[in-house]
Amino acid sequence: MTEPVRVRFAPSPTGHLHIGGARTAVYNWAFARRHGGAFVLRIEDTDPERSTEENTQAILRSLAWLGIDHDEGPDVGGPYGPYRQTERAPLYRDALALLQERGAVYPCFCSAEELERKRQEARARGGFAGYDKTCRAISPTDAAARVAAGDPHAWRLKVPFDRGDVVFEDLVRGEMRFPISAIDDLIVVRSDGTPTYNFAVAVDDATMRITHVIRGDDHISNTPKQILVYEAMGVEPPAFAHLSMIWGPDGKRLSKRHGATSVEAYRDMGYLPEALLNYLALLGWSLDGETTIIDRETLIANFSLERVSRNPAIFDSEKLEWLNGVYIREMPREQFVDRMCAVLQDAGLLSPDEAKERREWLLALAPLVSERIKRLDEVVPMVRFLFAEVAVEEKAKDAVLAVAGARSALEEAARALESLEAWQSDAIEAALRALPERLGMKPKAVFQAVRVAITGTTVSPPLFESLELLGRERAIARIEAAARVASD
Ligand code: GLU
Repeated sequence: MTEPVRVRFAPSPTGHLHIGGARTAVYNWAFARRHGGAFVLRIEDTDPERSTEENTQAILRSLAWLGIDHDEGPDVGGPYGPYRQTERAPLYRDALALLQERGAVYPCFCSAEELERKRQEARARGGFAGYDKTCRAISPTDAAARVAAGDPHAWRLKVPFDRGDVVFEDLVRGEMRFPISAIDDLIVVRSDGTPTYNFAVAVDDATMRITHVIRGDDHISNTPKQILVYEAMGVEPPAFAHLSMIWGPDGKRLSKRHGATSVEAYRDMGYLPEALLNYLALLGWSLDGETTIIDRETLIANFSLERVSRNPAIFDSEKLEWLNGVYIREMPREQFVDRMCAVLQDAGLLSPDEAKERREWLLALAPLVSERIKRLDEVVPMVRFLFAEVAVEEKAKDAVLAVAGARSALEEAARALESLEAWQSDAIEAALRALPERLGMKPKAVFQAVRVAITGTTVSPPLFESLELLGRERAIARIEAAARVASD
């Protein structure tokens, strides 16, 4: 029987969740769900200067927004907690005691200055800049005596000389090989008693019974060190899968230079979590090399590390925007109304009560909007005229209302609309289509004038439907007001 899959996402809360971290989280989560395993969230907050609670909360919010749920973590608990490294000091102490018992570590009494001097000398010689193993030569009895006497010391891993290369089968990149001679006797516990990064991660992954470590390949040089820590503890290492980096379109590693990188920035720009999830899934994995619309169920049912690419993924914001537009268009109307209402409420254009009372009206508005936008932040500018009074933009005034004949076109339009029996888009359309010929004007000039009058701008949802949704009184009042400032 194979053990159940357990994977983890282990962000350092030194910033918000960015695209690269989110992609790592998605792959771990999809892998866990695909195999009916557990997805663990561990907060690696050992860097006290750069870690903040605010960042931890932002990471939790971003994951929840994307719909990536974890089974164990700092907020939900679980059998292998605590799930913040700063709360796990007793576990690191136990692990150090185990390594001491197994003779796998030795105390190092070299001072920081001494180590720095040795490093510089080694560099000047062009040799291995690692620790020269001075303290490894101290006899166990002498070392124990100095420790007992309170001589300041760190603990170093006794990397076995005769171990041979550290080799592991990376589930994405294939066989990886690191010569043992290039691996330092790394410090596992500093002289102040705090664990080092590679020690803490290996202890955590071992004690949390992690079966697969899926992470960015910026960690690949840490893996052989962590494998040696596992071996020193007498624990079987997990399987490893290192994900290639994400590049910007210029072939450089994705960073702030390429624009927004945090998940919450994408949320604020009007991206849908399901579209971003879909896009993140495709940043290095593919279903069949061609399908682009992959919902979460399909992802969960099909995700596999075999289909993760070794090549860097290119972040293409236009493709993400296009994908978002597809999700918006294909969303059931009821759902789109809910999203639209949330955006309108945030903008102060709609109250929760109005959202309920005007549901039918909002349902009629929904398709006019959803077919024309790629991002939810386009909703407010597009429909503001239906919720608030509008001031005609100067640009629109000059381009449309200052055209000869605009005033009479608007006056005629107001008159034609006043006498309509039913206030419905097809009747409105018939009434307005009769005007241009009668006025000797181009249809576009007449319709643009009416559009500017009711929306204040030259871009809007379709005109006749917009008029219907605005309501007769407000529509006519705006057309009359525009007529007063339009040219003869
Ligand atoms: N805390 C590390 C990071 O945020 C991840 C460590 C790991 O996945 O092993 O890059």
